[in-house]
Amino acid sequence: MKWQQDSCVVHCKYKNLVVYFRVPLDFDLSSTRPETIELLNLVLFSPFHKEMLDRDFPAHDLKSKRCGLAFSGGLDSTAAMMLLPKDTELCYMRRDFESLLKHDNADRFCEAIPKRVWSVRSNHEKIRTLHGERVGFSMDLSCMAHVILLADYLNVGRICTGIVLEDTYLRGCSFQSLSESSIIGVDPFCFNFWRMVFNSFGFDLCLPVYGLSEVVTSKIVNNSDYRDLASACLRSDGECMACYKCYRKNLLKQNPIKINNGTLKMMDIGRLSHLPSLLYGLSKCEITSGPIVKKYQKALTQNLDFLERYPDFYLHDAIDAELIDAIKNNLSLLGVEAMDKEDVNNIKSFKRY
Ligand SMILES: [Zn+2]
Repeated sequence: MKWQQDSCVVHCKYKNLVVYFRVPLDFDLSSTRPETIELLNLVLFSPFHKEMLDRDFPAHDLKSKRCGLAFSGGLDSTAAMMLLPKDTELCYMRRDFESLLKHDNADRFCEAIPKRVWSVRSNHEKIRTLHGERVGFSMDLSCMAHVILLADYLNVGRICTGIVLEDTYLRGCSFQSLSESSIIGVDPFCFNFWRMVFNSFGFDLCLPVYGLSEVVTSKIVNNSDYRDLASACLRSDGECMACYKCYRKNLLKQNPIKINNGTLKMMDIGRLSHLPSLLYGLSKCEITSGPIVKKYQKALTQNLDFLERYPDFYLHDAIDAELIDAIKNNLSLLGVEAMDKEDVNNIKSFKRY
């Protein structure tokens, strides 16, 4: 795809859609490396054009050690921000078309942070609709597209996002090791493959909360000054209390709300995401009846306390060796411990049933 810049809009034509990003005024596309644009094309379009990945990806040196985080204002990316170095650039992707998604919570958060948050408006979530799918990211890693586009401008080499344990090791029906993991949603390619792709363009794919459950990210944020700013709800200014996220996140705050329509709808269509943390929340709030408890009775008999800690192996799986000690130190400062042997057995034997 050929990208062009007109004033503060970087755009390309894809089928009958003009895909665009609104960039900072002094951004200059001609100063962006061709490799950076190639990577942007891969994360946006390769899910629909797999031949784009049919090539070699030789390793290249990291062009910068600085981190750029796809920051959403939710709990997971806030926890990621707290674990990453202080000079991490925060980049917020703002959906630039009418939808149910509300930006009020993220706006309030971005304004309260004592550093600049780069807000990038884009319509790239429409690309999928040209392939008969509903609006959304082309694949999981497309949530980083705006960070990749700004990477050279911001002198960023490590591209980071807040993908958590429930979307990585526990994404399937049972534990998946890194080599089996398909977090990018384009089987059969896995995280290792994408890390190699990023490396070949001079970037590092860095996932600081890859091994942390929502139980941990919620705890980190709820114990911090950001507790009243980070919000998972995308439907309302504040919490709508009617969506699945509001239901799940309140369970994790041990502040259960009545099961709502959003949750029931997700259950009906088989899309109760982050199920391990949901089950953990139900069990900690001692909720012993209702449709979810009924459906997942067997899964609820498992010891889920391992979700309070992190598996040591994730640090080596998802984070560059040079950053591991800093992240480990921050986890310790935030009171998050590593899993012991019993926890590791429990995570590896976890089943949804
Ligand atoms: Zn909500």
